[in-house]
Amino acid sequence: MKRHSTDIVIAGGGVAGLTAAAAFGTAGFNVTIIDPTPPVTTGDAAGSDLRTTAFLQPAQQFLEAAGLWNHLAAFATPLQVMRIVDIGTEAHVTRNFNAADISELPFGWNLPNWLLRREMVARLADLPNVDFRPGIGFTQMLARSDEAIVTLSDGSQVATKLLIGADGRGSPVRQSAGIDVKTMRYGQKALTFAVTHDAPHDNVSTEIHRSGGPFTLVPLPDHDGKPCSAVVWMEQGAEVNRLAALDDDAFETAANDRSAFLYGPLKLVSRRSVWPIISQIAHDLTAPRTALVAEAAHVMPPIGAQGLNMSLRDLSCLLDLAVAQPDQLGAPAMLDAYARKRHPDIKLRVTGIDALNRASIAGSPAMQTLRTKGIEALYGVAPVRKSLMQLGLGAG
Ligand SMILES: Cc1cc2nc3c(=O)[nH]c(=O)nc-3n(C[C@H](O)[C@H](O)[C@H](O)COP(=O)(O)OP(=O)(O)OC[C@H]3O[C@@H](n4cnc5c(N)ncnc54)[C@H](O)[C@@H]3O)c2cc1C
Repeated sequence: MKRHSTDIVIAGGGVAGLTAAAAFGTAGFNVTIIDPTPPVTTGDAAGSDLRTTAFLQPAQQFLEAAGLWNHLAAFATPLQVMRIVDIGTEAHVTRNFNAADISELPFGWNLPNWLLRREMVARLADLPNVDFRPGIGFTQMLARSDEAIVTLSDGSQVATKLLIGADGRGSPVRQSAGIDVKTMRYGQKALTFAVTHDAPHDNVSTEIHRSGGPFTLVPLPDHDGKPCSAVVWMEQGAEVNRLAALDDDAFETAANDRSAFLYGPLKLVSRRSVWPIISQIAHDLTAPRTALVAEAAHVMPPIGAQGLNMSLRDLSCLLDLAVAQPDQLGAPAMLDAYARKRHPDIKLRVTGIDALNRASIAGSPAMQTLRTKGIEALYGVAPVRKSLMQLGLGAG
């Protein structure tokens, strides 16, 4: 079989991999992107990812440069205010963080994941130098000094300068490179679903804390003429399994109780999906001719909208290095620079989110300061490093 040759192979066509293909393709690199599972691009199809992603300001700029934002802007709901509510035994404690205090733009924009896949696949179709091969996966790679030979699940091989592992938390690329991970488990799961409510959300994202984990409402466009929000509800695994098995009426009653009726009665308007919650960090971000990005490199609980936003930072760093010295694509100097630049930020944020999640599980009022500092750091109200250092979390 004739061996195909390209600049970059991206393993993984999740949101991170598709974004990587658009970004490197727009910058003029030849890209082959593979994924054994073709993307589901409608909201009501089986297997559709009904989560939403809140893209923070820097992510929006990156999406714009990759030619993606003009596909997405019309569907994005701005996040103007981040609200944290602690439901204690006595009065609720509410803190508001308004994006207007730091810039003219909102903190970020919320978009459904299935819609991201649809629009990203559409963008790739505009790029003749991007070869998207859904239904085909990565199986192994052999790194040589000047290229890597990647073997695909259909038996074909591709020679490439750089292999990007964007193939998720179980990353076959990472395993094939022999890179180990550190995993932290909480016994926690997240339930995700969409609700309508009587009260308008006014582009406010609200995190409601009690114990067990946060209940977060993130604004979406109106649904059937009513205000609508995406919910991420984190609890211990057994409780999530119980909630997921309730009939719709009983589930709405439980969700109303947990939201303390802050938005009025909630009406379920989507199916519910369950996500296991872990933190995970890869011991190395690179191997010969290989760079890990996104969940292949780091996984975090969904607090502070960090996961995919950090992934876009990985991509932005890799892209800057590639564009600065295209002849060094995938060479040791480029990969070393990537690891050096990204590892401290990844470690800091994984450590910070781990602490915030443990605080949320404990539900202790003493943890309110931690949450305030955390939110200030994560949404750019104060420098991340300074805020997390004040909390003793600044592992550099
Ligand atoms: C409940 C929840 C809410 C979240 N909310 C936010 C948020 O608001 N903001 C935010 O920034 N982040 C959020 N995150 C995190 C975010 O969803 C993840 O960071 C993101 O979805 C992971 O993207 P990924 O592309 O790295 O991984 P995945 O989506 O897991 O994609 C990996 C892809 O690799 C493919 N693959 C597997 N094996 C192979 C192979 N052999 N070869 C090639 N491809 C392969 C898989 O089929 C898959 O398509 C949330 C996470 C959860 C759980």
